[in-house]
Amino acid sequence: MAILRFKALELVQNRKRIEVHPPSSKISDYYSINAFGIKQMKYTLSPDIFEKVDYAVQKGKPIDNNTADAIASVVKIWALEKGATHYTHWFQPLTGSTAEKHDAFYDVESELEHFKGSALVQQEPDASSFPSGGIRSTFEARGYTAWDPSSPMFVLNNTLCIPTVFVSYTGEALDYKAPLLKANEAINKAATKVCRFFDRNVSSVHAYLGCEQEYFVLDRALYTARPDLVMGSRTVFGHNPARGQQLDDHYFGSIPPRIYDFMQDFEIECLKLGIPVRTRHNEVAPSQFEVAPSFEEINIATDHNQLMMDVMERVSLKHNLKVIFHEKPFAGLNGSGKHNNWSLITNDGVNLFQPSSSARENLQFLSFFVCTIKAVHEHAGLLRASVASAGNDYRLGGQEAPPAIFSVFIGKQLTDVLDELEHNGNIKVKKGDNMYVKLGIDKIPSIIQDNTDRNRTSPFAFTGNKFEFRAVGADSNVAAPMTVLNLAVADQLNKFTSAVEKEIDNGMERRLAIIKILREYIKTSKPVRFEGDGYSEEWIKEAAKRNLPNVKDTPRALKAYLNKKSIQLYKKYHVCSEREMQARHEILLENYILKIQIEARIMGDLALNHIIPTAVAYQNKLIANANGLKGLGIDNGAVITTIKEISKHLEEVKVGVYEMIEERKRINKIEDVEERALAYCDDIKVKYFERIRYAVDKLELYVDSEEWPLPKYRELLFLR
Ligand code: ADP
Ligand code: MG
Repeated sequence: MAILRFKALELVQNRKRIEVHPPSSKISDYYSINAFGIKQMKYTLSPDIFEKVDYAVQKGKPIDNNTADAIASVVKIWALEKGATHYTHWFQPLTGSTAEKHDAFYDVESELEHFKGSALVQQEPDASSFPSGGIRSTFEARGYTAWDPSSPMFVLNNTLCIPTVFVSYTGEALDYKAPLLKANEAINKAATKVCRFFDRNVSSVHAYLGCEQEYFVLDRALYTARPDLVMGSRTVFGHNPARGQQLDDHYFGSIPPRIYDFMQDFEIECLKLGIPVRTRHNEVAPSQFEVAPSFEEINIATDHNQLMMDVMERVSLKHNLKVIFHEKPFAGLNGSGKHNNWSLITNDGVNLFQPSSSARENLQFLSFFVCTIKAVHEHAGLLRASVASAGNDYRLGGQEAPPAIFSVFIGKQLTDVLDELEHNGNIKVKKGDNMYVKLGIDKIPSIIQDNTDRNRTSPFAFTGNKFEFRAVGADSNVAAPMTVLNLAVADQLNKFTSAVEKEIDNGMERRLAIIKILREYIKTSKPVRFEGDGYSEEWIKEAAKRNLPNVKDTPRALKAYLNKKSIQLYKKYHVCSEREMQARHEILLENYILKIQIEARIMGDLALNHIIPTAVAYQNKLIANANGLKGLGIDNGAVITTIKEISKHLEEVKVGVYEMIEERKRINKIEDVEERALAYCDDIKVKYFERIRYAVDKLELYVDSEEWPLPKYRELLFLR
């Protein structure tokens, strides 16, 4: 019987490019044509209705029924024109992907298409099979989705998609989006207050996000011939190819033609949906690439990232490719992350992380800059938890991606500025004195933006006018880390405001009060700043001395969601109650268990059904060969050695797999979710995965390539 691997290889040889025809040579001709947000509402709604929506969006207030009906009728006409036959509330449950349930506009009875305001604003999907961490008991399975008017609706696959939050009938958040919206509100309020120390006219501040999304692309047929990729998005076996990424010849190299077609195609789809994709390039590992949109308000950027991943999946199949977002699909090669570029921008368009040549603005810049560093220090554990997943565990701390230790990199120039501020004694100002010059913060040149000293090993780096949160996994919903970051910084900004106000009340001049508090923060948050090599052994030791958490796996990292400090933080800003935190914690653990369980099963199945039979068959051939040689009186020592090697590794695979199965049986009986997750981590993943893989990868080296069933790394990664 022909092996799937060879059929796939044959298909790859004969692949043709699938040409892409942009709707117009000018992107502006089709940008956003499939989206319906505030901009489109402005042109299509009557002015009084628009004013009401705009107000609701700005203030986060509900929309009344009449307004909703008016919007719905306009949206219906627009969507039908775009060819939509159905509508759906589009939401982001804690499964990590997006969910939708479609309803037809067409009503058989009246023979008309209907779409009421009530259907726009709220729906009740049967929520019983979405994870709720025990919040919804089965008899109260109802949850509802509620329209988020701040994020544009869109038409995709003949369906009008309405971005929504997903909450339980009793009001608890069951998704990623509801907490994010609340955290956004918290940072808006907190940052606006701080701005008012410097500029009375600031009325709001929004967090902005630009995600650089890394991904792998494989040929679809080769992908299909790898059950581990199909079932778990990760290769559990596979010997390193002779050539990996050591030549560094892929990074920024010319994009392979079929991949280029795919990129163009999905970018057009994204642009039509109003997703501002902008940058594309090859990444470091073979077959690894990156796409980055222009930054947007964080809630919209989050929705757009989820939507973009969805579009990429679909379009990749059309090109006989398969996009992989897993954080570590291939051992020995770089994994994929999602660098979250984050900044705070006022309603006047001032980026609060932009250093300036004006002294006053620099004090404002430093206030936000230092508070962010302090927030990362205060909540390092929670930030780590926010990026924890089974997939990201293979990446964080894997000698490539950022380490699991949370530190902040700011570059030499800003380190000097902070040192100056910290050590420059007690500043006394007389009228006319230029305190800013004395402090060395009168001018902070913005050349730091230009790559002067970027540190790729840092999980959280300042890059000129924004922070870059790099520890986020490629496959994750960015809402979780962005919720934590916004909350942590909001809280720090509020503490800063109170501390400064207290000094002012005690008679201190405002600028001096600000500097005094900043100086304290610079001192107390110093341990989180690190400019060196984040992958080095010394840093691990140093970080331990500095008391920075270094948590290597998800079950342990997730504990940070349940400590007092985190719960208080979430409660204080009404983002999640303690009950909701517990539920989330439980869901994330369950998810972790399932992932490891699936990987363990795939390993077992592949080993027993694919690897062992193939190796045994080959071993039998060698035995016949050894006997033949012996019969002819020829030395068969070399063959015997190979047979022994194969036997050794075969034994190792068998024993490993059977032991692992027994362990799983034991662990599955553990009642407590956290204990079970820890056992899956320590007693399954750590104990067996590497051990079994090592033996299988050795067998791959020995067995005749003609008989090996799984596409090899060199085929998966270098053929397109
Ligand atoms: P890099 O050199 O790190 O690749 P880029 O300038 O290409 O930096 O930007 C990477 C991402 O950062 C893009 O998505 C971009 O839109 C985003 N970005 C740039 N400036 C900001 C900002 N002020 N706030 C948030 N994101 C930003
Ligand atoms: Mg970057």
